[in-house]
Amino acid sequence: MVERKSIPSLVVATGNPGKLREMQSYFPADGGWRLALKPAEIEVEETGETFVENACLKASQVAQATEKWAIADDSGLMVDALGGAPGIYSARYGKSDEERIQRLLRELGDTSQRQAKFVCALAVAQPNGEIAISVEGVCPGEILQSPRGTEGFGYDPIFYFNEAGMTFAEMPPDMKKRLSHRSQAFAKLLPQLSQLFEHR
Ligand code: IMP
Repeated sequence: MVERKSIPSLVVATGNPGKLREMQSYFPADGGWRLALKPAEIEVEETGETFVENACLKASQVAQATEKWAIADDSGLMVDALGGAPGIYSARYGKSDEERIQRLLRELGDTSQRQAKFVCALAVAQPNGEIAISVEGVCPGEILQSPRGTEGFGYDPIFYFNEAGMTFAEMPPDMKKRLSHRSQAFAKLLPQLSQLFEHR
């Protein structure tokens, strides 16, 4: 248990204000958790082989460089018939969302094996870089033959979520937020984080 009475603050391993806002939205609004962007000069490397490894690496590097508590995420899509690809390379699978989707559909061809899952790993590191918490949220679904829907981003238009009977891109944003791999990862992380900081 961490001895700490002040409002918990975490440096997010990103330079992207949009990502910071999105992450902050998963924390309880009245919970007092404060998230801050990492300083621009701190470069973070993603050299891990899994989502969890990458999240841990990023959180650890930022924590050590800032000497503060840090949080990092890593996420992507894993397609069974492609041996888990694009996986940790999800963001680099093509130059645009459109190219990434078309490449994935091309590689999958007309196989009936279309199971896939979105994965989100989150890691929190203490100021010395040691990992205090790491969790993974998973959302299983299927890859459609062609895109459907206009909401969301990335692979959302081809990711069909069976329970809801629609793609992530066909869902209202708050519905996707509730069901997604990211919200599942935060649902695991937040109780552990509260316990760690003896918060609330
Ligand atoms: P990162 O975690 O920001 O590195 O994102 C990795 C990549 O995975 C994104 O650029 C998207 O291509 C993909 N991805 C992650 N989460 C989602 C999602 O919720 N919907 C669609 N694509 C996603």
